[in-house]
Amino acid sequence: MIPYGRQSISQEDIDAVIEALKSDFLTQGPKVPEFEGKITKYCKVVYASAFNSATSALHAACLALGVGKDDWVWTSPITFVATANCALYCGAKVDFVDINPDTLNMSIDELRAKLEVAKKQNRLPKVVIPVHMAGQSCEMDKIHELSKIYGFKIIEDASHAIGASYKDSKVGSCEFSDITVFSFHPVKIITTAEGGVAATNSKELDIRLKLYRSHGITRDKNLMMNECHGEWYYEQKVLGYNYRMTELQAALGCSQFLRVDEFVEKRNLLANRYNEKLAGLPIKVFKPLKDIYSSYHLYIIQVENYERKKIIFEELRAKGVGVNLHYIPVNQQPYFRSLEYSHVFKTPNAEKYYAGAISIPLFQDLKFEEQDLIVAKIKEAV
Ligand SMILES: *Cc1c(COP(=O)(O)O)cnc(C)c1O
Repeated sequence: MIPYGRQSISQEDIDAVIEALKSDFLTQGPKVPEFEGKITKYCKVVYASAFNSATSALHAACLALGVGKDDWVWTSPITFVATANCALYCGAKVDFVDINPDTLNMSIDELRAKLEVAKKQNRLPKVVIPVHMAGQSCEMDKIHELSKIYGFKIIEDASHAIGASYKDSKVGSCEFSDITVFSFHPVKIITTAEGGVAATNSKELDIRLKLYRSHGITRDKNLMMNECHGEWYYEQKVLGYNYRMTELQAALGCSQFLRVDEFVEKRNLLANRYNEKLAGLPIKVFKPLKDIYSSYHLYIIQVENYERKKIIFEELRAKGVGVNLHYIPVNQQPYFRSLEYSHVFKTPNAEKYYAGAISIPLFQDLKFEEQDLIVAKIKEAV
């Protein structure tokens, strides 16, 4: 079975992890700050904090922005559940802004209309989390403009989008947001096995992110509430977690980072080949908007309806093509349906998308011959 996504591990990556394993530190050593430094330099952002997953980075990002009981957090229904769960961990309520069916990102028109209504009902969101679906950045300048009018904070869920750009800046620059979160799960662009990063330009937010990452504890005298008792002294200021990344993960991340541009270029090359070879078939494909360079975490096709999707999906799986689905609308999950306020969820575009969507294999080591085989199988199945 050709999988829909797969990591690319080189001998250099293996050597980097072995070296970390032989070093003095398995955790809390020099590799984590080195990895964070690679992110800040690459994305042209001031601060970065490495986490043990994007899920924990999203949770800490919500906490850092003060999300709490009865606050509203809005995100896209077409995302992984973690994007919405992070708000629920904080005791907040979550609602969903329907997608633009051509970009699969949060629709700006829907967001604007929903904000207008929420303002009248006095239930504006504290935080909005746009998701750069499949590696294509959302229209961040427009979301940022709305944030100024309606007073919400922005966390970019860029789990799919390291190496992508929006206009003249790399995703992660936080030019139009408070915090950007990346994931380094093996199916994403580069990997640390498990891992994530939260980037920000705000010193205050960076301090809070790092507190929440490590039990709410600080050893920095300037941040202490009491006078420092001595070299041994540390203080717990907030209720934090152990969300730290290990040195082994950071070492792998530093090594993988050397190839981030190469990986994204290869993904774009493969996506363009799919665009050419699938043209003329009765399926919808998605191309990035002008001014956007996608990292192409996923290549998604959409067929007319659920019945066709089911047949094509099963046939492709039977023929060794590891197709997948990204995503079931989060608000349709039984858990989200069970929330007492679930009657507010209205996302018809997301449901329509879900009915016909299929993710086909795309990863940096996918060979042209394999891709041609996949295209042939899709032609047969369609
Ligand atoms: C993968 C993913 C996450 C969660 O990332 P982890 O690192 O596995 O915790 C969150 N949001 C989106 C959009 C993702 O694709």
